[in-house]
Amino acid sequence: MLMRIGGNDVEGVDARWIDVKNPATGELIDKVPAGSDEDVSRAVEAADAAFDRWAKMPMRDRGMILCQAARIVRERHKDLARVLTLEQGKPLRESVDEVRGYANILEFYAGISARQQGETIRLAHQGDCIVVHQPVGVCGAIIPWNMPVIIMGWKIGPALLAGNTMVLKPASTTPLTDLRLAHILEEAGLPAGVLNLVTGRGEAAGEAIVNRPAIRKLSFTGDCTTGNRIRELAGMHLKDLTLELGGSDPMIVMPDAALDKAVEGALRGRFYNAGQTCTAVKRLYLHEKIAAGFIQKLKERVDSLSVGNGLGSRIDMGPLNSAGQREKISRLVDEIREKDQGTILSGGCALKGTAYEQGFFYRPTLVSNVVPGARMVTDEIFGPVLPIMTVPDLSTAIREANTTRFGLGASVWTKDLATTKRVFDEVKAGIIWVNRHLTVPPEVPFGGLHASGIGRENGQHALDSYTQTKTLFLGW
Ligand code: NAD
Repeated sequence: MLMRIGGNDVEGVDARWIDVKNPATGELIDKVPAGSDEDVSRAVEAADAAFDRWAKMPMRDRGMILCQAARIVRERHKDLARVLTLEQGKPLRESVDEVRGYANILEFYAGISARQQGETIRLAHQGDCIVVHQPVGVCGAIIPWNMPVIIMGWKIGPALLAGNTMVLKPASTTPLTDLRLAHILEEAGLPAGVLNLVTGRGEAAGEAIVNRPAIRKLSFTGDCTTGNRIRELAGMHLKDLTLELGGSDPMIVMPDAALDKAVEGALRGRFYNAGQTCTAVKRLYLHEKIAAGFIQKLKERVDSLSVGNGLGSRIDMGPLNSAGQREKISRLVDEIREKDQGTILSGGCALKGTAYEQGFFYRPTLVSNVVPGARMVTDEIFGPVLPIMTVPDLSTAIREANTTRFGLGASVWTKDLATTKRVFDEVKAGIIWVNRHLTVPPEVPFGGLHASGIGRENGQHALDSYTQTKTLFLGW
């Protein structure tokens, strides 16, 4: 497929290409241009040219276009989900969830388009002020491969509704569904140049987006190391920045929790999307009173998961997205073995057999008694591996939960209000779930503390973040 710039399908100026492969089979699905600095310049020019007209369109009309795009996406959700599974690897059922989730996001923003926010300030002796929100201009977005559809929605929904135009770079392994979604937006009435997709690699097309002074705001989702580099580069241009980075979410289970529900919560929280979700359960803290029974039930459920090509029927977990991702996961598990830092209860290796040879499969893995300080609990594990720690009380669970540099999400499983309040007050995270994990609906502001990022996506907060205020001061 070609890049989408200014309403046209275009090749890259350099005429270089990136292969897009199916992570379940290693087969070539398609190729996309390896976008360069010059391609980003073309996209920024197109976005700049489209800005005035788009920004002047009533917000309600912009919302109607998003709504119409959501309708087309719902109609074609099966085809879109199939492409997503082919390039990303997740089971078809999860791809359908993600495509529908994208439609939900566009509909949410369409729904709030009728209530533009602003404020008036009455000053006792100097006059009155009217504060309005205006679009920022051309915005940039750089997104990862784990949830390429939802994360595209998180960025374009608020940015376009607010009246901005955008240059977006999908991840190099998952550009195909995003390109189709860009076409659908134009089919729904989005003027040419409002949304431009430049395909390519991070160090070329990605950095070119970060370095363009004409891009006034940048929203990035990805790894912490990349986020830090982007922060340095963007700082030189005084770019407004949203950074949605990694996480190492703790899940704390107390003795009064509904245990069967909590077992299912841990299973889904960790192994959905083969564990490649920013807010996945990445550390499980079990109260010692329920730990043994909980681990037994969880192990039974984990061992019964069916792993395979996401297009197959009754598949619970697909492959990892790339060989590199699988290698990172393997290394963390091997380190546990070599340093004797925990007990591997399930999995702990790649899936073997001819059906899996060309894909990047890894068995769902449980590791118990992981020692404090093991890399598996201090780093982010972006794959199907769950470290389990047993704790004597809530205070220890909270202290351990706060030991990483991250602060994205956390959950506590309990029926007790006082426990809930303590976890809410004391665990460092942008979102605390009670008796659930992973859910991030478009209405709810979402983002992390500390190394997990800067700023919030979703809800009114995200819409505001794609605007700048301007004040009219009326001196009477
Ligand atoms: P990544 O940082 O390697 O890549 C993300 C995007 O950045 C890709 O499009 C990539 O091409 C681009 N990129 C890479 N280097 C770049 C550079 N120097 N300049 C500009 N762009 C560059 O991350 P990933 O491995 O694709 O994603 C996984 C990470 O994303 C995990 O840490 C995960 O937790 C995080 N994530 C966070 C959220 C959130 O909302 N907080 C959501 C999903 C994923």
